[in-house]
Amino acid sequence: MVWSDAIDAVLSVVIAPSCAACDELLEHPTRGAVCERCWQSIVPLTPPLCDRCGDPLPAWRSISLPLARCPRCRRTQRVVDRSRAIGPYDGALRAIVHAMKYEGRRSLAKPLGALMRHRGADMLDGIACVVPVPLHPSRRRERGFNQAVDLANQLGVPVIAALRRTRATATQTGLPAARRHRNVRDAFALTRAGRRLAGARVLVVDDVSTTGATLEACARVLKEAGVVEVRALTAARVVSSPR
Ligand SMILES: [Zn+2]
Ligand SMILES: [Zn+2]
Repeated sequence: MVWSDAIDAVLSVVIAPSCAACDELLEHPTRGAVCERCWQSIVPLTPPLCDRCGDPLPAWRSISLPLARCPRCRRTQRVVDRSRAIGPYDGALRAIVHAMKYEGRRSLAKPLGALMRHRGADMLDGIACVVPVPLHPSRRRERGFNQAVDLANQLGVPVIAALRRTRATATQTGLPAARRHRNVRDAFALTRAGRRLAGARVLVVDDVSTTGATLEACARVLKEAGVVEVRALTAARVVSSPR
C-alpha cells in the first residue's frame, strides 16, 4: 500500500471526484482528472497521413507518392508546411480538450502536452521554437489562461510568443469553412519577439485544428517575417471525410 493509494481511497469516498471526460467515478484521483480508460481510448491518427494537413490517406496513396498529399491539399495552396495532431477531435480526446478549455481543468495540459510531444516527435525535430496560437486579450482575460500556451509549455522546446491577435474574432465553432478563413484573416500580427525568427523553423501549437484556417493565418504572418518553415501541432484535429 503506497501513500497515493491510501489518499486515493480516502478521496474517492470523501470527495468522489469523477473523470473530466466520461464522468465515471475516479478510482485513482491522485493520478489526474481523467481516468485511464479515457486516455487509452484515444485513437491515434496513424499513417499514411497527408504530409500537409495531417488527414488520413487511403493506404495506396503513400506508396505512389514521394510526398503524400490529400486531394484537398493538392488543390489548394497551403502556407503551413506540415501538420499533425494526436487524434481526431472525437470521443475522449474531445471531452478532455473541452474540460481543459471551458471548465478550467488546466492540469490536463500536462498529460495532453506529453501526448503531443510523443506523437508529434517528428514535428519537433529540428525546430527553433514553439509558437502558441494567441488569444485576444479580452478572451484571455475571460478564460484566465491560454490553453495553447499551456500545451506549448509541455513540449520541451523554447516557447516564443511571436504572434498576437489584433482583433477579437467571432468564435470559429459553427462557422462554415469559407467563413472561418475570412474570420481569422488578418487577425494576427507579429510581436517584437517574433521579429527575431527570420530564417528559423517553427512549430505553431493549438488545441484543435478545425479547417486549419487559424493555423494558416498564423503561418502567413510568420512566413512574411522570414520564417522558412512553419509546422503545426494540435492536440486534436477535425478530420475531413475522405474524398
Ligand atoms: Zn474517463
Ligand atoms: Zn491534406
